[in-house]
Amino acid sequence: MKSSSRVSSNTVNSMVLGLAASSSQQVQKSSMALFGGLLGQYQKRRLLFTFEDSNNNNNNHNNNKVASNKVNPWLESMRASSPPRINPNNNNNQDDHNKNNSWIVGHPSALKMFDEIMWKSKAKKVVVFLDYDGTLSPIVADPEKAFMTKKMRATLKEIAKLFPTAIVTGRCIDKVYEFVRLGEVYYAGSHGMDIKGPTTKGRNHHKGNNEAVLFQPASQFLPMINQVYKILVEKMKGIPGAKVENNKFCLSVHFRCVEEKCWPALAEQVNSVLKEYPKLKLTHGRKVIEIRPTIKWDKGKAIEFLLESLGYGNSNSVFPIYIGDDRTDEDAFKVLRSRGQGIGILVSQIQKETNATYTLHDPLEVGQFLRRLADSKKACSRQT
Ligand SMILES: [Mg+2]
Repeated sequence: MKSSSRVSSNTVNSMVLGLAASSSQQVQKSSMALFGGLLGQYQKRRLLFTFEDSNNNNNNHNNNKVASNKVNPWLESMRASSPPRINPNNNNNQDDHNKNNSWIVGHPSALKMFDEIMWKSKAKKVVVFLDYDGTLSPIVADPEKAFMTKKMRATLKEIAKLFPTAIVTGRCIDKVYEFVRLGEVYYAGSHGMDIKGPTTKGRNHHKGNNEAVLFQPASQFLPMINQVYKILVEKMKGIPGAKVENNKFCLSVHFRCVEEKCWPALAEQVNSVLKEYPKLKLTHGRKVIEIRPTIKWDKGKAIEFLLESLGYGNSNSVFPIYIGDDRTDEDAFKVLRSRGQGIGILVSQIQKETNATYTLHDPLEVGQFLRRLADSKKACSRQT
């Protein structure tokens, strides 16, 4: 199990680099290479993939060396990966203002470009994919309280009646279902490693409903994930504000409430655990470190699986819309770009490197977009 080659202070430095990058919401290629899911070709059928990705581990290790050579002291790494945010309302910094304007031109508002999106989707079957945290709900200090508004739930319920709709999240399905409470939608939890479809009557989703299970590619990792969860919970007791969440097929270490001065200790503790489990890898989200199996599976592959399950695997008439705010959503944006189908919409108030085509500022705008999408569909139905 041991992988001594990974044990080094450089690894910890690199983890801190990732922490800083994710919290500043700036995509850093180096940390993406270190921790991101490095993926191979999607296998069209569900069982045609390998569980272990030794090549990726080697690549990650090599990239780790490169990154750590560039940035030795961890403070230097944090500064390097945390450039000042662009404030679109601050005209005093003309350079930042110009940069932000050019980014907005490259990634316009999905609300402002709504008519264009409707034109693109005309005569096609719209399928809606939605991340949860930061997309349907605001990012809050306590991840247990990331509730959707009643208005958002009503809108989502209507969307699910009009279009095939899936929630694609890092959370475990049971947790996200507690928040969403809609039986009409598909749920792809644990970054797509746990996929369930709508129940027969569309409202009877409950824990352990095996009939609704579509796909669980990482089921063999369950004992390991539970073991690491227990260890991490103990380790994080020494880091004020840190919270470990068991997402069934992956784990989240939330550092939203951890003071920056404690990040190196947090990174060191996570690294000390992870080095004993080379079959697990680490990725970064917004104020969260995520630990998951080294299988070739992510949100992008989850939406390909769902599209195929819905009968659109080889369809030219499908128009997937994916809305998400996180790095892990980029895998889904990439899939849509490579398929040349549909659109990706990034939820962000600051400029980021992204494979999405359009942007929305926050969950409020996501709700407005979904409302217009539902109204537009209903108007079209009345005309035909
Ligand atoms: Mg999110």
